[in-house]
Amino acid sequence: MSTEPAIITQGLTKSYGPVQALRGLDLEVGRGEIYGFLGPNGAGKTTTIRCLLDLIRPSGGAARVLGLDPRRDGLAVRARTGYLPGELRLDERLTVEGALRLLNGLRDHRAPWAEVRRLAERLELSLGTPVKNLSTGNKQKVGVVQALMHRPELLLLDEPTTGLDPLMQRTVLDMVRAARDAGATVFFSSHHLAEVQAIADRVGIIRAGRLVEVVDTRALAERAVHRVHVRLQEGAGVDLDALAGVRGVTSVEGEAEDRGTGLITLQVEGAMDALIRALASLPVETLETEQPSLEEVFMAYYETPGRD
Ligand code: ATP
Repeated sequence: MSTEPAIITQGLTKSYGPVQALRGLDLEVGRGEIYGFLGPNGAGKTTTIRCLLDLIRPSGGAARVLGLDPRRDGLAVRARTGYLPGELRLDERLTVEGALRLLNGLRDHRAPWAEVRRLAERLELSLGTPVKNLSTGNKQKVGVVQALMHRPELLLLDEPTTGLDPLMQRTVLDMVRAARDAGATVFFSSHHLAEVQAIADRVGIIRAGRLVEVVDTRALAERAVHRVHVRLQEGAGVDLDALAGVRGVTSVEGEAEDRGTGLITLQVEGAMDALIRALASLPVETLETEQPSLEEVFMAYYETPGRD
């Protein structure tokens, strides 16, 4: 297998008449990674995915997918990819089973039917339901099944959890992770920081058709600004200034100094070992930490001085 990244784009541009949807997009997605493509409405996520599959042609720049040029080898790229479109269109006259058999037929029946059943069961999707009776969420499940069923090397998923309830969202994310564990590369678009945080190895942030940042999700979490609430025993005198000087502590608020007891709230950036050592000598009654959401981390990240 080629060691070339699963996806590369260089200076990709796409205009729809006067609308510049992509303005020089440079992407690189390694084999076997889960890459979250995060951005607001209209940022260019769907346009990017459609260019990668040669469903639309870019206005400029270059793309390579699984070592191929989608413009020359679009068929081969699509055959090796599982694609979940933002809005799946299905023949209303068919049942779910009929629709999936039709889609499988287009892929030379490469998906073993047992796999289709397994995926459908996992999603609690009934194969006998007529397509015209499907709810939005159940239609989305059909999309997930058809993207995964032939165990493709690459998954291109356009907002995979849209329309699903929270339990099903989690199931889909678990299935995506399982596909990666079985060797697939995953590129998925999302508006939801939480789901990106849950499964992505890296996140690319797209804004107005440009990639503005690529971050490692774990590195991002390590930048976490934790809030730590410490309740001390009555009468415990504590030097708040000394706590403020502990490595990682960025702010301290508390009542301990004035009243000899109370609650201290600290902000800590990064590892907490130094704070834990400092607290070990104090009469701590309770200690709670709040895990910041990726959103808070992003805010901290973007508020770093010197960052654009
Ligand atoms: P969302 O999160 O809302 O799905 P997106 O990041 O997927 O958005 P795109 O659908 O790629 O964004 O759209 C990028 C820009 O291109 C938007 O301004 C959109 O209105 C425009 N656009 C997309 N498709 C077309 C089209 N067929 N004709 C004209 N403009 C289009």
